Amino acid sequence: MDFKFGETEERLRDEVRKFARVEMKGHFAVSGLEEESRDEDWEFTMQISKKLAQKGWLTMSWPREYGGQGASPLEQLVYMDEASYWGIPGTQMGVSGIGWVGPSLMLFGSEEQRKKYIPPIAAGEPDGVWCTAYSEPNAGSDFANIQTRAVRSGDEYIINGQKIWTSCAHRARWCWMAVRTDVNVAKKQHGISLIIVDMKSPGITVKPILNFAGVHIFNELFLDNVHVPVSNLVGTENRGWYHLMQSLAFERHSIAPMFCGGARRLLEYLVKYTRDNTYKGKPMSADPVIRHKLAERAIEIDILKMFGYEITWKMSKGLIPIYEAARNKAYCDVVMQRLATTGTEITGIYSQLDVLSKWAKLMGMVTRLYMIFPGMSIAAGTDEVQKNIVGQFKLGLPRPY
Ligand SMILES: Cc1cc2nc3c(=O)[nH]c(=O)nc-3n(C[C@H](O)[C@H](O)[C@H](O)COP(=O)(O)OP(=O)(O)OC[C@H]3O[C@@H](n4cnc5c(N)ncnc54)[C@H](O)[C@@H]3O)c2cc1C
Repeated sequence: MDFKFGETEERLRDEVRKFARVEMKGHFAVSGLEEESRDEDWEFTMQISKKLAQKGWLTMSWPREYGGQGASPLEQLVYMDEASYWGIPGTQMGVSGIGWVGPSLMLFGSEEQRKKYIPPIAAGEPDGVWCTAYSEPNAGSDFANIQTRAVRSGDEYIINGQKIWTSCAHRARWCWMAVRTDVNVAKKQHGISLIIVDMKSPGITVKPILNFAGVHIFNELFLDNVHVPVSNLVGTENRGWYHLMQSLAFERHSIAPMFCGGARRLLEYLVKYTRDNTYKGKPMSADPVIRHKLAERAIEIDILKMFGYEITWKMSKGLIPIYEAARNKAYCDVVMQRLATTGTEITGIYSQLDVLSKWAKLMGMVTRLYMIFPGMSIAAGTDEVQKNIVGQFKLGLPRPY
């Protein structure tokens, strides 16, 4: 097996690198989570989205008719890896537009929906920014327990209920929402539908929730008699559970490529840090414990990279990787956690400084990752949920529900 990239991919990597050097001007993000970032970063994020779209990179692997370039999944992977390495923000259009809304609409949306919603995403426009509302106070891992109700009335649905942890809802133009359209069902997985909600609709209240770093990334969402046209139903009514399994696979698959390049860069910085700093009169890099920790992290990042290649190869053959996406997400969580912990051990007390402190080492990358990884291991399904999927689809174990 030859892992060498072709000329097209190498040229692309080079161009993204040049773009980052010119455009990033000291910004750094560790992962694409800058989409959910501090208010002062949002304008910059949207400017970058626009520029990425103009370069033809933002949705490069989407078909041309939907604003893509028809690029191969491998080119897409190289672009994402390099964007992640440099911490380029604005690659997701909210937290949802590129990772799963666009791909899901192409798979099971109507032609009218594709024409209306996909082009603004591909163009990096504010109208292409999406949030996703699945979780509710009593429905997280047990997603099928959702209670938010959509009742059909003529050519509209009227929605009432509450969502929670809705990342980016305070910035999004549209919401990709799961609702209950039938309550008289034998199994709670039935009677769920997917619907597109205009965030400007009367009856929607967005209330901020701060994460433990004090940053406003997610929200509570209250829906009080929100009217939504029936044409906003995505796929088949009451078949939402099945559509969502596909969307979630897209989401889980998108996480490892968003993180892998940033992890590589942080590891390079940590290696340099141990060479440049001493402990008890010797370079830290000479300490066997530190060397082994760095080597372990390097091995893990390589494995994650290989998982990314494997899934990309399968997608290029038209396969839909369900358990592989869950595996990559679960393993990515482990890699993030261990890298962040090793970073804190190496930089010591500096890792306790605020990301933006002038005394922070390595541009605050260690602290930032340390703050991000617990949330990331919960978002898009907890580690336990991913392992349940691997158990069911890879090992043929009984369903967990
Ligand atoms: C950073 C972040 C961003 C998020 N963004 C969004 C968003 O944009 N939109 C959205 O809809 N949601 C979002 N979420 C919510 C996320 O999807 C849920 O938090 C997640 O699904 C877990 O649900 P829960 O919080 O209700 O925990 P619970 O489901 O109550 O889980 C609690 C614990 O029990 C374990 N557990 C539960 N069921 C099982 C089982 N069957 N087997 C084994 N263990 C189990 C879990 O693994 C976990 O450790 C986000 C969360 C975070 C942290």
